[in-house]
Amino acid sequence: MSELNTLPPVARKVYHPCKKCEVERYQVVLAHTNSKTARLECEVCHTKNTLKVGTPAKNSKKKTASKSSRGGHKVRWEELTQNASQDPAPYNMREAFEVETLIDHPKFGLGVVTALTTNSIQVVFEDQERSLVHNRQ
Ligand SMILES: [Zn+2]
Repeated sequence: MSELNTLPPVARKVYHPCKKCEVERYQVVLAHTNSKTARLECEVCHTKNTLKVGTPAKNSKKKTASKSSRGGHKVRWEELTQNASQDPAPYNMREAFEVETLIDHPKFGLGVVTALTTNSIQVVFEDQERSLVHNRQ
């Protein structure tokens, strides 16, 4: 007997072991107890049995919609760099930068400081946002 994964409909006859007969019997599905179990009645001895089905196939993990913020990021970078009033400052980890400072990084190009801690700055570059060291003593 193949393993069931879904309950047979009510009134359907299924071949299932009967606890009294101790053999598999045709049994009528009386009702569904829940989504995984049903009550059966043995056709021969009329004993009530329980049918359990396997765990339903797990729902395929919902893929979190990847936020395609690529366009949005570029727009943000353009706005930030255009709003910067001063000339870009060459990036140097010993320098202490401030928020909204325009930075010219030798590798990542033009970026704008958007946040900072004592030793790190969050810089929005054209391709992505990066965390850089600054104020290194
Ligand atoms: Zn029986």
